[in-house]
Amino acid sequence: MISPCLSINEKGHLVISGCDTVELAERYGTPLYVMSEDEIRSVCRRYRSSFEEYYQGNGKALYASKAFCCKEICRIVTEEGLDVEVVSGGELYTALQAGISPENIHFQGNNKTVSELEFAVNSGVGDIVVDNLSELYKLQKIAAKQGTIVPISLRIKPGIDAHTHEFIRTGQIDSKFGIDLTSGEALEAVKMAAGMREVSLRGLHCHVGSQIFEKEPFVHAAEVMLNFFAEIKQKLSVEFDFLNLGGGFGIHYVEEDDAIPYEEYMAAVSEAVHRKCGELGLPLPKIYIEPGRSIVGEAGITLYTVGNILEIPTVRNYVSIDGGMYENPRYALYQAQYTCLIANKANQPADYIATVTGKCCESGDLIQEHTSIQRPEEGDILAVLSTGAYNYSMASNYNRNVRPACVMVSEGKSRIVIKGETYDDLLRNDI
Ligand SMILES: *Cc1c(COP(=O)(O)O)cnc(C)c1O
Repeated sequence: MISPCLSINEKGHLVISGCDTVELAERYGTPLYVMSEDEIRSVCRRYRSSFEEYYQGNGKALYASKAFCCKEICRIVTEEGLDVEVVSGGELYTALQAGISPENIHFQGNNKTVSELEFAVNSGVGDIVVDNLSELYKLQKIAAKQGTIVPISLRIKPGIDAHTHEFIRTGQIDSKFGIDLTSGEALEAVKMAAGMREVSLRGLHCHVGSQIFEKEPFVHAAEVMLNFFAEIKQKLSVEFDFLNLGGGFGIHYVEEDDAIPYEEYMAAVSEAVHRKCGELGLPLPKIYIEPGRSIVGEAGITLYTVGNILEIPTVRNYVSIDGGMYENPRYALYQAQYTCLIANKANQPADYIATVTGKCCESGDLIQEHTSIQRPEEGDILAVLSTGAYNYSMASNYNRNVRPACVMVSEGKSRIVIKGETYDDLLRNDI
C-alpha cells in the first residue's frame, strides 16, 4: 500500500488507521473524504525529530495549510509543534479560529490585498512574508497608521537553473512569486526593508516548487540563499534570524513515485547549511521548512459509490462515481496521477482497465484514465488514495454539487471534522 496508514483486512476490505472503509462509507455516506490523524501526526513528528537529529532543533516546520485547511487540522499540527502558514485572509481566519496563537502564523501570497494585510497586522501575525516591493510599501503604510512594527520576511526568487532541475516550478525567473535575486532587485529590497522603522526584517524565504523527489534543489536553494546572506552582511551589515526554505517534498500517489524519506531532506540541508555558514563565516540561522502536501497527502483517501459502468468496446470502460472534479479537480487541472481501487474487493486482482469519471457535466470530469482496478460492479465502494492534499482545499460547488464531509480516523475510531454541505448551504448567500 502506498501509505503506511492503509491495509487490507480479512474481509478483503481496504482499512485506514484501523477503520474498515466499507463501514465508513455505510455509516457516513459517499463521497467521503477520510483523513488519518495517526498518519498526519506521524509525519509531523518525523519532521520535528529530523530537526532535533540533524539541526540541533534550531528550526521548525510550518504546515502550509493551503494543502488542506480546516480547524481540526490546524489544531492537530499545532499540537505536534508545527507553525501554520496561510495564504489568504480566509486561511488566516481559520487558523485564528482554531486557536492558533498569531505569533505562530506565517502569511504568504503574491498579491495579498490591503484588507488581508490589515487583518494580519491587527491580528499580530508573527511573520508576514512580503512577496514584492508594492506589498512592502502597503505594509509600511498600514504599520504607520496602526503605530506598530510589523515582523516580516522577504520572499526571494533564487533563480535556480530550471534546466538542471526541471521539476522546479516557482524558483525560476519566470515566476510570479518573489523578488528577483539575480538582477540585484532582492538586495535593494533588503536595503529598503532594513531601513524602514515600521517593519522588522527577520528572515528570508524561498520556495522552489512542489512534489519534488530530489534533495538537490533544497541544498542548492540553501547554498544560494546563504551566499546572499553573506553578501547582505558584507554590504549592508544586516543579519537574519531565520532562513525559510519552503516546501514541496514529494509523496506517493502511485507505486512508482520515488518519494524519499523526509528525514533525508533535513540531513542534506543541514549538512549544506553547516558547510556554507562555516565557509562564509555566518552564524547558523534558524531553518524553517513549509511542508503542505507531505503532511496530509498520503493521510487522505476519498470513498465513492460506483454508479453506471459504460463499456465502449475497443475504446474504454467508463466507471462513474458519485463525486468528480468538483471535489477533486486535480486530474482535470494537471492530469495528476492517482491509485484507485475497489475498497470492498481490495484483495482481488486489479485486472480491469477503467476510466474513472465523475458526475459533472464536462467530458474532462475525470479522476483517472486507463487505470487498473478490481472488476467493478454498481454499488461497489471505489477508493482513490493520497487525496489528503489539494482535494478538499480545491473543491467547489460546480453543478451545485455539495462538498462532501470529511471524517478523521485514528486507531479504529472515526469522527466528523467537516460536515458535508447541504442544499441549504448552497443557497446561503443567494438573495
Ligand atoms: C504551496 C506552498 C508550500 C507547500 O508546498 P507543498 O508542495 O504542498 O509542500 C510551501 N510554501 C509556499 C510558499 C507555497 O506556496
